[in-house]
Amino acid sequence: MKNIAVLGATGSIGASALDVVARHPDRFRASVLTAHRNVDALVALCARFRPQLAIIADPAFESALRRGLTQAGLSTRAAAGTDALRAAASGDCDIVIAAIVGAAGLESTLAAARAGKRLLLANKEAVVMAGALLLDAVRNGGGELIPIDSEHNAIFQCLPHGPGAADVECLPNPHRNLDQAGVRRILLTASGGPFRGKHRNDLAAITPDQACAHPNWVMGRKISVDSATLMNKGLEVIEAHWLFGARADQIEVVVHPQSIVHSLVEYADGSVLAQLGNPDMRTALAHALAWPERIESGVAALDLLKLGQLNFEAPDRETFRCLDLAYCALAAGGTAPAILNAANEVAVAAFLDGTLPFLAIAELIEATLAAMPAEPADTLEGLIYTDLTARQHAQRIMRRSFC
Ligand code: NAD
Ligand code: MG
Repeated sequence: MKNIAVLGATGSIGASALDVVARHPDRFRASVLTAHRNVDALVALCARFRPQLAIIADPAFESALRRGLTQAGLSTRAAAGTDALRAAASGDCDIVIAAIVGAAGLESTLAAARAGKRLLLANKEAVVMAGALLLDAVRNGGGELIPIDSEHNAIFQCLPHGPGAADVECLPNPHRNLDQAGVRRILLTASGGPFRGKHRNDLAAITPDQACAHPNWVMGRKISVDSATLMNKGLEVIEAHWLFGARADQIEVVVHPQSIVHSLVEYADGSVLAQLGNPDMRTALAHALAWPERIESGVAALDLLKLGQLNFEAPDRETFRCLDLAYCALAAGGTAPAILNAANEVAVAAFLDGTLPFLAIAELIEATLAAMPAEPADTLEGLIYTDLTARQHAQRIMRRSFC
């Protein structure tokens, strides 16, 4: 029986993860569930999954959580705050699902890696901000990192595994060498988001609800906006760089509107391996929970005949400028990806609040990157400081130029 901590249990990934967990009561037990502020949703999950511990990240809601658990007659312990999240990620669980959105997930993700857990990484912002630190923590902690992002999970599945491939296996050895494995390129697929085919002129008056209406995936609002701007793919390019040791010129983005081919790996001999499946995150979660075994996920079988065709096209880098901003941040190195991420989080939150126009998201990120030169990213404290400073710069630039 594996004990599982689901960090971000009330979110979209949290729900998919718990759905898979519930299908395998003989294998998995949700021992820790966490949420940001939504006490009612967290208590409802506790009533269903009976974890040992429930954590509300915002300490202002701790007493409401205690009250809710007592009223529901549950023996689940309550805790609050980032220290509790860190402690739970490194406590007595076997698997940590890092499904908090944004930089807020960094410290608990790192704590799980340091403690040698099997880390199921959905929180891509953590690896974008602190890729080197996170992978060192996985190596030094002696645990494993298995990507949940569907593209990276697909790549993981298409890379060589098993005896003799330890140096190229995604993890537990994160410092692999793609060239030695005969890998030429990683082809990262992108749906293109809800505005694929549109031009800049069409996007000036986009509303948050339009941006969040993703054609293939149902996700949280932040990642939905990232998908609409193509920043999601930009973050995923940086994620692929760190997780698979791929250079920027080895990572190509291919738009694939059906979201059936989740990504591909091209080898030196011309072979291209792909992982296919319906767009449902439970496949990646079931794969990573049971790896190297395979278990039922609840995802419907892929019906290729019904699909009929799969299409591929180049991304429109002029309309969706965030993709190239991410490549630039990756090339600049050091703290640049953390600055990119912080500015993007500020911009997306302002767009969702209705205070920043859709097209200004890329402009704000570009201006923030220009205002802050990249520095070495060697310590967690330094990265947290960079994140905070970049947010302040972005807020200031936004007030001055965009609002
Ligand atoms: P979501 O908004 O649906 O859920 C986010 C979860 O994090 C919630 O449980 C929320 O309570 C918690 N949270 C939010 N802010 C927090 C804070 N400050 N402190 C602590 N907890 C906080 O988001 P999601 O779509 O489930 O995405 C979660 C992560 O997974 C993101 O990093 C996203 O990029 C990644 N991801 C999501 C999908 C998907 O299909 N949803 C796919 C690939 C990767
Ligand atoms: Mg993805």
